[in-house]
Parts: sequence; C-alpha cells; structure tokens
Amino acid sequence: MPAKSNNHCSFCGRSEKEVGFLLAGVDGYICNECVEQAHEMVSEALRGKKGKSEFQLDIPKPKEIKEHLDQYVIGQDEAKRYLSVAVYNHYKRITSAKKDQEVDIEKSNIILVGATGTGKTLLARTIARFLKVPFTIVDATVLTEAGYVGEDIESILTRLLQVADYDVEAAQRGIVFIDEIDKIARKSDNPSITRDVSGEGVQQGLLKLLEGSVVNVPPQGGRKHPEQKFIQVDTRNILFICGGAFDGIERKIAQRLNTQVVGFDSVGQRGRIDRENMMQYISSQDLKSFGMIPEIVGRLPIVTYLEPLDRDALRKILTEPKNSLVKQYEQLFEMDGIELKFQPEVLDYIVDKAVEFKLGARGLRSIVETVMMDVMFELPSTEAKEYTVTVEYAAAQLEKADGVRLKMN
Ligand code: ADP
Repeated sequence: MPAKSNNHCSFCGRSEKEVGFLLAGVDGYICNECVEQAHEMVSEALRGKKGKSEFQLDIPKPKEIKEHLDQYVIGQDEAKRYLSVAVYNHYKRITSAKKDQEVDIEKSNIILVGATGTGKTLLARTIARFLKVPFTIVDATVLTEAGYVGEDIESILTRLLQVADYDVEAAQRGIVFIDEIDKIARKSDNPSITRDVSGEGVQQGLLKLLEGSVVNVPPQGGRKHPEQKFIQVDTRNILFICGGAFDGIERKIAQRLNTQVVGFDSVGQRGRIDRENMMQYISSQDLKSFGMIPEIVGRLPIVTYLEPLDRDALRKILTEPKNSLVKQYEQLFEMDGIELKFQPEVLDYIVDKAVEFKLGARGLRSIVETVMMDVMFELPSTEAKEYTVTVEYAAAQLEKADGVRLKMN
C-alpha cells in the first residue's frame, strides 16, 4: 500500500492520514467517508423524488398477466382469467381516473374460493410482484372489532404502509390479500336468531375498507402507542383479494341450483349439472347463504374458484413453475458447484406422500426439506460434484423423520 500523502479532502478538510484514502479529482480530493455520506444523501434525495414511485402506465394486458401467472402457478385457469381481467380493469381504472371521464368505473374486489393450499395466496402474490405494487397478506381470523383482543381492522393498512416504505401514494394502489375470509362468516343464515358478534362485526369493519374510504392508520400498528400520529390512507384504489376455503359451500350451491332448476324447469336449457364439481357454479348468492353479509358480498363482485390439486398437478408443481422446489434445490447446490439430480421416481414418491399425508401442495416443501436435510448438511463439505437423490434414499429419510414432523406442519 503506498504511503499516505499530505493531501486533504476538499469536502471535510481531513488529511489522508486521518481518513482511509483519498480519491483525486481535477482540482482536489474527496475522502472515502465523504463519498459514503454523499452516496447516502444522493440516494435519499432520489428516493424522495422517485420514491413517490412513478406508477407504470402501461398496464400489462389480461393475456400478458395470465401468461405471467402461468409461469408460477399450475392449473387454475378459470381463476387466472378472472383475476387477470379484474386486475387489468382495476389498474386501468386508477390510471385513467385523472382524465375527465363521464362514467365512474367502480372498483371490483375479488374473492377466490378454494381449498387450502391450492394457490390462492400464490396467485395474489404473483400478480402484485408482476405489477410491482405493494402487497400484504392478512389473516381474517386475527381481526376483531375495535375494542376486542386481536388486531384492529386498520392494522391491515399499517402493514401495507410498511411494505410500501410509508409511501402513502404507493400503498393506496397496493393489493391486500385477506385470507380465511370464510372464517368470519355469520354462523347462521338468519341474523336475528344467532347474533354472532365477532364474525359479523369484523365483516362490518372490513366493509369500510372494501368500499373505499379514508382511514386513520396508526403507522406502527396496534393500540400500544396511543400517542402516535395517524396517517390517512384512502382505500378507494386498493385492490382487495379475499380467499377462503368455504368448506361445505357446495351444499349451498346445490340447493340454489335445485330450486332454480325446479323454478324455471330448464334442466335441458342449462345443460347437465356436473355434480362432481359444484364449485364451478359458485355465485355471490352462495356466499350470502354461507354467512357473508350482503354488503360485503356486494363489495366483492368478482367471484371465482380454484380447483383441488390432483396428483398430476402436484407433480407439475414440483418441477414446472419458474421457481419450483426442484429448481430451487438445484440452484442451492449449484452454488456449491454440485449438480443435483432427482430420480424421476423420487418425484412421484414425494407426490404420493403429500397425497397420503393430505398435505396438498403445501406439504411438498416440508417433504422435500425432510428428504434433503442430511444431504444439505453433509454434501457441501465433500468433494462431490454431482448427487442424485434416489427413491431408496428419500424413503429412508422420511422413515427416519417418521412423518411425524410432516404431519404437524
Ligand atoms: P392457499 O392460499 O390457497 O391456501 P397457497 O397459495 O399459500 O395456498 O399455496 C401454498 C404453497 O403451495 C405455495 O407457496 C406454492 O408453493 C404451492 N402451490 C399451491 N398451489 C399451487 C399451484 N396451483 N401452482 C404452483 N404451486 C402451488
């Protein structure tokens, strides 16, 4: 290292001996510390300008959105189409709202009905990432009416603000995924018989957010800091995507279809009802029968469903999505210079186990993790350049773990 000179930083005046080193310019010097400080200041200034993030005006067309979803989510064509159109219209509505428009286009929040682990969250998350808008997931079951133990409804917006780095404008066009919305359904169809305070109260609270209003949001969430200043967030342009399993809703669908069919005597015209897959006929009315209050249902005009994942879909989920489990593991090992391979039979075996444990797609990850644990521990310390996971090995590893941990996951 060359000896330090007697030159001084033209910004802070310190000599090279006092700082790390100096960079020479045409007419002076700058020290490493000033460079860092300047970098911070510049980034901050740019964030201030750009951070009020310019919203991309060319919204991808529904077909492009669906094509993007296809890269990450297996199957679920119907839900993808509905979502793509709804999201496209939503952002078109926001970006054109500034122009003079005679027709006020109303917001269309979405509800996805389908068993757990079929890709509801994944769909919402993938869309938000694609559009580069703030995204947050909340569990409806932890929400309570103000004044009860649990999270206030406003906490949803606190989280959205946090992921948007407190850029209110960005948060105001974000996407919120509300999971397990079915769990806040009224237990009885008739509101006057059983007053199920918790569920109905939360639904009432949510209504305010869904329909669009200006809400006072505690920036740190919770009620623990009563002194904190509120941030006002307008929810008019926030897209809410709700998800729920709605266990047993098929019965409600069947009931409705039966009465309709009798009423209009039109089995022939409507075609045969596919009793195996009642979910495809789901409508807003069934959500009401299930116990969602009519006002909420009215604010979730787009109703679509996800299909249960069969073996074939599970097998594809392992390998096909852009960030599939298998690809993720291959990449992890590649970083250590090891080429990882799975015998094709191993993948079938993993799917078998996921089905056997009734873990669905969610279980694939825990099964693969269990199988790979020891390999991940041992292999990086060896000279191996290649490793193939065999069925015998996978079976032995799972047996060792006894499946106990898996079932608990
Ligand atoms: P849900 O919200 O319906 O309960 P998730 O979207 O959280 O289910 O799915 C759990 C995990 O299972 C996801 O992270 C993903 O890895 C996998 N998965 C579920 N469904 C699909 C699918 N259709 N395509 C690809 N992966 C899926």
